[in-house]
Amino acid sequence: MKENNEAKNQTGETNTPTHFIQNIITEDVAQGNNNGNVVTRFPPEPNGYLHIGHAKSICLNFGLARDFKGKCHLRLDDTNPCKENVEYIGSIKEDVAWLGFNWGDNCFFASDYFEQLYSFAIELIKKGKAYVCDLSAEEIREYRGTLTEPGKESPCRSRSSEENIELFQKMRAGEYANGEKTLRAKIDMTSGNLNMRDPVLYRILKVLHHRTGDKWCIYPMYDFTHCLSDSLEGITHSICTLEFEDHRPLYDWVLDNLETSCHPRQIEFARLNLTNTVMSKRKLLQLVDEKIVSGWDDPVMPTISGLRRRGYTPASIRNFCDRIGVAKRDSTVDMALLDFHIREDLNRSARRVMAVLRPLKLVIDNYPDAQSEELDAINNPEDPSMGTRQVPFSKTLYIEQEDFMEDAPKKYFRLTPGREVRLRYAYFVTCNSVVKDDTTGEITEIHCSYDPETRGGTAPDGRKVKSTIHWVSASHARDVEIRLYAHLLLDQETETKKDFKELINPAHLEVLQGCKAEPALVEAAPGDRFQFERQGYFCADTKDHTPESPVFNRIVTLRDTWKKIQNKNQKKSK
Ligand code: ATP
Ligand code: MG
Repeated sequence: MKENNEAKNQTGETNTPTHFIQNIITEDVAQGNNNGNVVTRFPPEPNGYLHIGHAKSICLNFGLARDFKGKCHLRLDDTNPCKENVEYIGSIKEDVAWLGFNWGDNCFFASDYFEQLYSFAIELIKKGKAYVCDLSAEEIREYRGTLTEPGKESPCRSRSSEENIELFQKMRAGEYANGEKTLRAKIDMTSGNLNMRDPVLYRILKVLHHRTGDKWCIYPMYDFTHCLSDSLEGITHSICTLEFEDHRPLYDWVLDNLETSCHPRQIEFARLNLTNTVMSKRKLLQLVDEKIVSGWDDPVMPTISGLRRRGYTPASIRNFCDRIGVAKRDSTVDMALLDFHIREDLNRSARRVMAVLRPLKLVIDNYPDAQSEELDAINNPEDPSMGTRQVPFSKTLYIEQEDFMEDAPKKYFRLTPGREVRLRYAYFVTCNSVVKDDTTGEITEIHCSYDPETRGGTAPDGRKVKSTIHWVSASHARDVEIRLYAHLLLDQETETKKDFKELINPAHLEVLQGCKAEPALVEAAPGDRFQFERQGYFCADTKDHTPESPVFNRIVTLRDTWKKIQNKNQKKSK
């Protein structure tokens, strides 16, 4: 809950540049359209978990409502009972709220309108604008024609209104089998827009609906349901992604041909595409079903629940969405930009601690055997108000394996025989010798001496060292499990490859056991975030972390690849 408050405080900020949808709405408001009101909606279909692409739409719709002092409805577009279920409804609400948005009393379901939609269908039939068709799905497809050829009219097109009403009532009463009949709009089989060639408005589906049970066996199609739901709710601006641009004439046709009190304006924008991941719900579901990931909230998933579990903050996702902006043309955003925003957020807010991912024992030969001491460490140099803590130090420590090299190349400045380095917050140490495993030759221990005069990390004689490494005291250390995540996909060619699974990065998860962390981490609660010095930002796993067996997910490394990409682009454009 802490998170929600944190999120709400920040959603008030609106310092992003304006985009074309804001301009359209500003103009509408100025002209007094809709009495100057702004009502938007976020309309997910409860057939999967929300992902980062949805976050863009959520931030856009709720953001506009906030900016124009209007409202944003949450509408569950539940017209396809075959693929929908209540688990998804719960997760959608949780995710929108977690992102920091509040729909108040305005959570609606398309299924609440089934009766009204049915009446609208009857109204269309009475006006001679819709008919019951006997063609099979395949025949409808054949009759539809192509982009270069006009379609053919259905033989059922000339049925009388009376006959159509009777047949439609029978459809509702369950007298026909699935697929036996449909209700279609009577528009224009020669239209240049395929969506206008007598689109299907209702199909027969004898399946239970998660909310209406067995009350209905006919279900309205998206194009019929969406515009009417928008209208019934008094939506002023119906914002959707570009693939619906070709559906806009149908959206308007339905509303123009029915007695509705409100005709919302449909506006399309480009959907978010991200590198190195998949966002189609079908593919995400496949990953879950085939157990390629551990669930919808696997920290490698681009779902909001996955990002949350990985440790991303609501603010970082909102800032990312603001930053990518809203445009009319499709583009692909580099995942590194999302990482940039989480780093920016956590750099200021996360406590820094020391943890060793791949431990190597370091013994300080001249440090008294039984002695230990507490050293002052700064919790976050970016924010002095976060204070300091005490870190225990003793004769035997762990350092990172990669911080030691026996035969080091020239530019390696970390520990190597004969070299002096600084142990963070502690002392200067010099490596004297190594101990190796007799059979494998692997280095098992390194032996150093320390300079007691350098307590706190500075030498009174002013001598410098080239590197500072992190460490933990062996006898005080906590064993932790650390999960390192890499990109889900090796590259981006998801659409050109037939099977996107060929692109899945087999090493997207590396689990490290027996990592060593300083005792301060004992207090970590699930969901707490830290910077492990020099290793990145980590989050105590919300499912598996316990004080007895701590588990941390790495959110991101500290290296900012986004800045690198930008610099490269700048150089290129010069
Ligand atoms: P599908 O239609 O394949 O089930 P969808 O991603 O369109 O998936 P919806 O539940 O219909 O899922 O989406 C809800 C809203 O989120 C829609 O308004 C849709 O336009 C928007 N949306 C979905 N994906 C993206 C994306 N990648 N970028 C921006 N908006 C998106
Ligand atoms: Mg959709």
